[in-house]
Amino acid sequence: MDGERTMHDNNGQGWVCVDCGGKIDKLPFEPRDDSNLKCFDCHKKSAPAHRRDDRQMYDNDGQGWPCAECGGNIDKLPFEPRDTSNLKCRDCFRK
Ligand SMILES: [Zn+2]
Ligand SMILES: [Zn+2]
Repeated sequence: MDGERTMHDNNGQGWVCVDCGGKIDKLPFEPRDDSNLKCFDCHKKSAPAHRRDDRQMYDNDGQGWPCAECGGNIDKLPFEPRDTSNLKCRDCFRK
């Protein structure tokens, strides 16, 4: 064994990912709580971004949104707004 990590496979059964329902064959650790396990992909997705600008930004297909307060353009948001009638740009939001 040249430094290979011990992998656990739940007696060959694996686990189910709570996010996508996909199968998790092996884990590099033995989970104590298997009700909240995520597969590698989902784990990567949910892990906090290392860099701030890794966050997904929304730009309304490049059009942005008008600020409800000053009428200025909001070109990007860190979330997809459900209600666009009351959006505020960063400046107005801070006020
Ligand atoms: Zn998953
Ligand atoms: Zn504004």
